[in-house]
Amino acid sequence: MTNQLTFSRQTKNEVYKSIYHLKNCCVDVFLYALFKCLGSLTFTNRGLALSVSTENNDLLNLACKLVKQQYGKSCKIQSENTNSFSGNVIFNAKFDLDLVEKLKLVHYDEQGLLQLATKTNDFFDDNECCRRVFLKTLFLCCGSLSVPVMSDDFTESKKGQRYHMEMVFVDQDFAKSVLDLLNWLGFDFKMTKRKSHTVLYLKKPESIADFLVYLNAMKSKLEIENVMIERNLRNVANRQSNCINANIDKAIVASNKQIEAINLLQQAGKLALLTTQLQDVARLRLAHPEATLEELAVITGISKSGIRHRLDRLVALSKDINQGENK
Ligand SMILES: [Zn+2]
Repeated sequence: MTNQLTFSRQTKNEVYKSIYHLKNCCVDVFLYALFKCLGSLTFTNRGLALSVSTENNDLLNLACKLVKQQYGKSCKIQSENTNSFSGNVIFNAKFDLDLVEKLKLVHYDEQGLLQLATKTNDFFDDNECCRRVFLKTLFLCCGSLSVPVMSDDFTESKKGQRYHMEMVFVDQDFAKSVLDLLNWLGFDFKMTKRKSHTVLYLKKPESIADFLVYLNAMKSKLEIENVMIERNLRNVANRQSNCINANIDKAIVASNKQIEAINLLQQAGKLALLTTQLQDVARLRLAHPEATLEELAVITGISKSGIRHRLDRLVALSKDINQGENK
C-alpha cells in the first residue's frame, strides 16, 4: 500500500485522465468549477485581472487548451514560487477578462455590488455528463483523500488509521450548493467549518468508494476496498488470537496451581495414601504440565469433567495440609 499523499495523487491522476477529452457542453462547467475553486479576481493598475494559481500544472494546461479552443483566447502559464508547506512549485496563469462575462463568474447584487456567482444545479441543463465533470473538477481543484496506511509487517501506523475524503471551499454559499447537489445525488457528505473555510467530507469507506466510482476512479476504488478487506481480516485474526491466548493463560494458571498442590501432597507424604485414581491423575498432570483438560482427557480416555473433578480434589486436599500447618 502506498502512502497518503501518493494515494491522493494517484486518485487525482485517474480523475484527470477521465476529463481530459471533454464534450463541448462540459467545457464551461469545467472552467467555472476551476475558477470558482482556484481563481481570483484582483484589481491591478491595469484594471481587473482573472488568474488561477495551483500546484497542478496539468489542470492549468487543460484549462488554457480549452479556453483557446472554445473562446480563441490564449493564456500564459508561469511558475510563481514554491509552496512553503509542501515544497512544490506553484503555477499561475492569467486569463482573458472576457471569460468573467462569458462564464457569468460574477453578478451584481441588488446594491449594484460585484459578487462572485454561486451556481450549481441550474447550470447543468440537467446533463449528467456536465454534473460529473463539475464534481470531478471540484475534487481535482480542492479535494483530497486518505486511507489507512498498512506497513509491510502488517502493523498499522496510528496516524493513518482513518478513511477521509474532503473538498475545501472558501465560499460558504457555494459549498452549501455543492452539498445540496451531492446529497441529491445520494452521497452522504457532511459539512463543517475549518477556520474561514467550509469543508465537505466523507468518513465511511463504503461511501468514499461509491463516490470514487462516480468520479470514474476505479483503480482507487478497488484499492480502498482492498484496504477494507485486509483490515477486516486482520481484526478478525487479532480477535481470535486474543481469545486463544486468554484461554491458554487460564489453562496454564490452573495447571500451575495443580502441580503446586501435587508437590505439596508429595512432600507431606500424603500422595501415596490417596486412591490410585487420584495418584494416576497426579502423575499425568506432572508428566504433561502444559496440557489442557481436553488433552488430558484424550490421553487417558477419562472424561474431561472426570479429570477436572480429580484435579480439583487434589487442590482441595493440599489446602487441608496448608490449613493443618497453620493451626
Ligand atoms: Zn456535458
